[in-house]
Amino acid sequence: MSRLRLTDIKKSYHSGEIVHALKGVSLEFRQSEFVSILGPSGCGKTTLLNIIGGLDRYDEGDLSLGGKSTRLFKDKDWDAYRNHSIGFVFQNYNLISHQTVLQNVEIAMTLSGVSASERRTRAKQALATVGLGDKIKKKPNQLSGGQMQRVAIARALVNNPDIILADEPTGALDSQTSIQVMDILKEISKTKLVIMVTHNGDLAEEYSSRIIHLRDGEVQSDSNPILNDHIAKIHNNAQEGGNLSLGQTSMSLFTAMSLSFRNLLTKKGRTIITSFAGSIGIIGVALVLAISNGLSNYIANLQSETLAGFPLTISEGPQFVQGPPDGGPFGSSNEKENDEFPDGDILYRHDRSAVAQQQQHKNVLTSDYFDYIADMQKALPNAVNVVSYNREVEMNVLAKGEKDVVKFETSPNGADDMASGFGAAATYWQELPEDETFILSLYDLIGDGSRYPKAMNEVAIVVDDYNRVDKSFFEKLGIFTAKSDYKLSDFIGKTIVKIIPNDSYYSRSENGLFAPAAPESYDALFENGEGIELTITGILRMKEGAASSSGFLTEGLVYTKALAEHIMDDAEKSVIAKAQQSSDRDVIMNSPFANEDAKKLKMRSLGADTTPSSINIYPKDFAGKDAIKEYLDTYNSGKAEKDRIIYTDMSAMISSTIQTVLDTVSYVLVGFAAISLVVSTIMIGIITYVSVLERTKEIGILRSIGARRKDISRVFNAETLIVGFTAGSLGIIISYVLTIAINVIIANLIDIEGLAQLSATHIITLILGSMALTLIAGLIPAGMATRKDPVLALRTD
Ligand code: ADP
Ligand code: MG
Repeated sequence: MSRLRLTDIKKSYHSGEIVHALKGVSLEFRQSEFVSILGPSGCGKTTLLNIIGGLDRYDEGDLSLGGKSTRLFKDKDWDAYRNHSIGFVFQNYNLISHQTVLQNVEIAMTLSGVSASERRTRAKQALATVGLGDKIKKKPNQLSGGQMQRVAIARALVNNPDIILADEPTGALDSQTSIQVMDILKEISKTKLVIMVTHNGDLAEEYSSRIIHLRDGEVQSDSNPILNDHIAKIHNNAQEGGNLSLGQTSMSLFTAMSLSFRNLLTKKGRTIITSFAGSIGIIGVALVLAISNGLSNYIANLQSETLAGFPLTISEGPQFVQGPPDGGPFGSSNEKENDEFPDGDILYRHDRSAVAQQQQHKNVLTSDYFDYIADMQKALPNAVNVVSYNREVEMNVLAKGEKDVVKFETSPNGADDMASGFGAAATYWQELPEDETFILSLYDLIGDGSRYPKAMNEVAIVVDDYNRVDKSFFEKLGIFTAKSDYKLSDFIGKTIVKIIPNDSYYSRSENGLFAPAAPESYDALFENGEGIELTITGILRMKEGAASSSGFLTEGLVYTKALAEHIMDDAEKSVIAKAQQSSDRDVIMNSPFANEDAKKLKMRSLGADTTPSSINIYPKDFAGKDAIKEYLDTYNSGKAEKDRIIYTDMSAMISSTIQTVLDTVSYVLVGFAAISLVVSTIMIGIITYVSVLERTKEIGILRSIGARRKDISRVFNAETLIVGFTAGSLGIIISYVLTIAINVIIANLIDIEGLAQLSATHIITLILGSMALTLIAGLIPAGMATRKDPVLALRTD
């Protein structure tokens, strides 16, 4: 770059009364010379220097460099100009006190995007030129005035600018150190333009090559001007020269971070207190989240376990209806509607049994309805745990527990079972619902090598809380020896039951009737290899502390859905099933059926009809149950009474209000925690504001070496982000410790282990949230910082 020229520069200040600081200054400077500006206080020297340095803007006239005008400069152009072309040296040094000498010099280069290693070398070099190569690790307050001024000169030099502007650089120095500084400036002026404002006429005489006297905002005298005609010539060139263009300066986020980080380190106490204050809100929210999270998990489990024992049941056969559903035609008998608690002299004659008759309803389960239920899991994925179907296909199960093969009756109609007195509950033979995770959330696999039955030919034994199964189950398996304790391992991995296909089990006689296998032939059937061997893969026992005492699975053998499907397929195709289908008489007994239902029952037991006789729906939780009920009710809307399907809700007593209450409580708690969060956010805002006030000088310095407004807000945003991160992390650590304590207390009080749990999502959300909140809190003060006038900022002390 080359010559700097001012043409009729005017500048006035409008605070209160108007002050005309510069009243038309025209000056041209050589590429390298040592200019001293002298003049009484208030004559406009600093104003002139600030305008030349691009810290302040001129009102009128023009400032040009190498013939290029700066009239159309935008803020970013001035920032770049300061960063690339200008080096400032101030009377009061203006070093950043929390940075080392080396960092103070480096900072100008961080704005111009010089690599870290080059920054370091160049800063060291610049410090060596001013004779401070051995002081690079010191903080400014550990240096003398002269040394600090030399650091400032090194900082001004390090970007290799064309112009050094020094405003009373020796004003605060004794004569001895003044001479050192002047020597350095004189040396610099051999290759650069040095413009120095001073009060000291003697020093100016001795060192500078040109002295300009200013008075009342005008040039009074110039000892070595450039010829006027020459100025005119260059002036013309300037008009043609167009605008100056410079690269851009920018501060990397990393620089902003490290600047703020070091600033925070100088105020450790305050930073810790601020972070702690900020963390209180976070702790509040974290604890509420941890507890309500744990509690709702606990409740969800509780609900799922409770509901496992109380499904919604839809079955064929007569249902007792509690009043008319959907206000249907149920209650309306030929009796007229009576008022409750009637007045007057009246007594009614009333037929109770007629009303009871009205309230009997028979569900007819159509394939439409099964489709509707099949679609339910898609429609309400979060409501349904498991849907299980009961089919009354009888399986021909033979067992060989000891030496004799016996029939294992799988239907409650079996004669053996009726005798035991337990009725339908005691078949010891149940299909496992498909959802393994659901079952294993309720049941433990016990015993060595115990595993969940998966394949068609695998079964498990369900025992009660005491590892017991009733003796009649042992007898069904053909184990008659009375031994009070068996080992689990006596059963795991054993194959003692087989399923015999209908075609082997039933034989057809000449008259076309079928006969089941006689007990004498069981042995042969068991050994002939046509049956499916079922292996006992494991023992299931209800989890300790599980909520439902009624249990989901009944004691005895449980088999897989795969087996059920296989048997149904096989039974459906069997000769006896086909024969039964086309006959109106019982193909075994040869007796006519009493009614349609009796035939259907028989068809089902033989596998000729595989539609389920009942459906059990296990909801995930009470809210889910309500959703399912609504779904089931929707099916009935608009249907005639006979086509409606009515369900039985075994857990109608237990309502979903528990969850609502819990939700309300946790909303209230989150609300309280949020208030503390708001309070701590405001506090952080105030502290950032104080920090901005404290760092006004630093803002001025950064601006004087070319930092953009954006960079200044970056510095403060970086600071609030660091505080937010510290506050968030501190809050999480404290909350974590507190959850441990809370869990110990809760475990002692109500015997629930590990209730309060902070999830990883919570941790990340809270730390990010804390950073976001502090960032927001700091936006206003950081915005104030960017709006600060660099000239005023530098004037503050
Ligand atoms: P010097 O450096 O020669 O002592 P300055 O350039 O600082 O003088 O000031 C020149 C005149 O402009 C003075 O009268 C001063 O009060 C006024 N002045 C300087 N800066 C401002 C400002 N920001 N607002 C109002 N008046 C100012
Ligand atoms: Mg001044």
